[in-house]
Amino acid sequence: MDITESDSKMAFTNLEQVRVVMVHTSHPGNIGAAARAMKTMGFRHLVLVQPRDFPSATATAMASGATDLLDSATVVETLQEAIADCALVVGASARSRTLPWPLVNPREMAQQVLSMPDNSQVALVLGRERSGLTNDELACCHCHVNIPANPDYSSLNVASAVQVLTYELRMTSHASQEKPKPHWGVPWDQPPANAGQLESLFQHWERVLVDIDFLNPNNPRTLMSKVRRLILRAQPDEVEANILRGMLSHVDKHLRKP
Ligand code: SAH
Repeated sequence: MDITESDSKMAFTNLEQVRVVMVHTSHPGNIGAAARAMKTMGFRHLVLVQPRDFPSATATAMASGATDLLDSATVVETLQEAIADCALVVGASARSRTLPWPLVNPREMAQQVLSMPDNSQVALVLGRERSGLTNDELACCHCHVNIPANPDYSSLNVASAVQVLTYELRMTSHASQEKPKPHWGVPWDQPPANAGQLESLFQHWERVLVDIDFLNPNNPRTLMSKVRRLILRAQPDEVEANILRGMLSHVDKHLRKP
């Protein structure tokens, strides 16, 4: 059975809107293996943030018949670019971090993805082979997903992690007869703000907090991470994000008054 046939059995089409983002991957073989993992599960969109060695014959060899995903992969310089248009950003992490962040298992992640409004772009973000995702990268995500592996040996190969996450999305999509209820229980009247809009909001907010001496840029501590966590947890829509920006612009204006 080819992919198009099997995908027509999926309950929803918004798996098309899911991209896999691999951050700073060192080994091209892992990129190829991830492409293969994705294609077996019916996913197509691969985004690479500063891969060390790509395009590469090793990636092509490991991709087996999934070289079309490598050919169409997007290579970008920053994680921000990779996720700017995404309404939901999920960071895959093998270990817990000091600042707790909303955490789901792969099955819960799949439910969350499928409950997004149609046409919402979604990113699954995977980290470096050696050190995973940085705290700053994880702070760009709405939630983190952890594959509950052997607690004594919990770090999967990055392409294996892609396999597990995309498999879970596929299974959930196949198992569901109807689209899960929207996140807030009712269809929302505005589209969710995307990561690019929220990033501009956070940067603006930070500037204003420095200007009003609320944030000491020489000792920022975890203030902005906590602001990010609060806003990402609330998943504001576009209008709400604009209201917050509008408030900040007015603070700016008042600060500039003589
Ligand atoms: N040594 C690294 C792990 C890197 S594994 C660390 O301590 O963070 C490479 C990537 O695969 C991780 O960044 C993560 O995105 C994914 N990954 C590996 N194991 C995972 C797990 N158990 N749950 C979720 N993601 C995992």
